[in-house]
Amino acid sequence: MLVIMEESATRKEIKRVTELIKKMGGDVHHLTDDKTTSMTITGNSDGVEREFLAKMPGVKDIKDVKQPYKLGSRESKAKDTIVKVGKVEVGGKKLAIIAGSCAVETVEGTNEGGRLLKMLGANMLRGGAFKPRTSPYSFQGLGKRGLEILADARELIDIPVVSEAVDTDSFDLVEEYVDLIQIGARNMQNFSLLKRAGKSKRPILLKRGISATIREYLLAAEYIMSGGNANVILCERGIRTFNEYTRFTLDISSIPELKQQSHLPVMVDPSHASGRRDMIIPLSKAAIAAGADGIMVEVHPFPDKALSDGYQSITFDHFLALMDEIAKIAKAVGRSL
Ligand code: PEP
Ligand code: MN
Repeated sequence: MLVIMEESATRKEIKRVTELIKKMGGDVHHLTDDKTTSMTITGNSDGVEREFLAKMPGVKDIKDVKQPYKLGSRESKAKDTIVKVGKVEVGGKKLAIIAGSCAVETVEGTNEGGRLLKMLGANMLRGGAFKPRTSPYSFQGLGKRGLEILADARELIDIPVVSEAVDTDSFDLVEEYVDLIQIGARNMQNFSLLKRAGKSKRPILLKRGISATIREYLLAAEYIMSGGNANVILCERGIRTFNEYTRFTLDISSIPELKQQSHLPVMVDPSHASGRRDMIIPLSKAAIAAGADGIMVEVHPFPDKALSDGYQSITFDHFLALMDEIAKIAKAVGRSL
């Protein structure tokens, strides 16, 4: 159920309605759309008396939310959500560009690379410290040291940093060091991790599971939102299909679908989606044209020497070409870099 307050509703009226819903046994989540406050009632709303609520001062309308994802749905909030990561806004007119190596490797590489990427147009720096690897024998990341290197780069370069939390054990540590916490594809339905993310003050970048439907994906985001953290950025990163020429298949149609179903910002990761350097530019262009709010791309000074995902990482020259190409598409669809 969605309770929409009048634009003129006072704080006192909003508080009174909130308390009343709670007394009736419902859980209340506030969503603000410009000047209007709406309240989504989740949990058991059987005891919530609709007619009584509708007569309360300040209440404009009461609607049913049919979508199963109550807080993330367009029904609950018509306007696009903008998630702030430091000073960077994700979901507005300006596109978000997250770039950096798959894993944090060295101090010099992170600082030099970060500086160059910012100069070339990236507005966030990525680097995994805890890596979810297919093989237990592959490089697993530098752990805490990786986070320290990334956080130092943020101070030095003045750029928000992004890194993945792979489990609840390491979540606190990641939360302490980074501006945007990534939850990876393999963990999209790790419900204890999602619940922990819901308690975080930091925004969350939730990647789509490799075989997750849109419904499952948005319900995973709902775990975070219903826990109290409304700052969720979605990221399409390719799904498993029968094709064997790319690592995964970028689901372009998921972008307009997610946008239709939800008010949350949607980013695209062409690196993991394709697993191929030569596809980063065309897929990024397609993503922006389809309405993505930004891209996340893996860049490495020497891709062939990278400790993880080198085959899909691009060089700085290639990143510069990518920025030039997506600038044209951005302009054509009314976005900017
Ligand atoms: C990553 O971003 O480095 C990563 C491991 O992504 P995903 O979870 O999408 O595979
Ligand atoms: Mn990677």
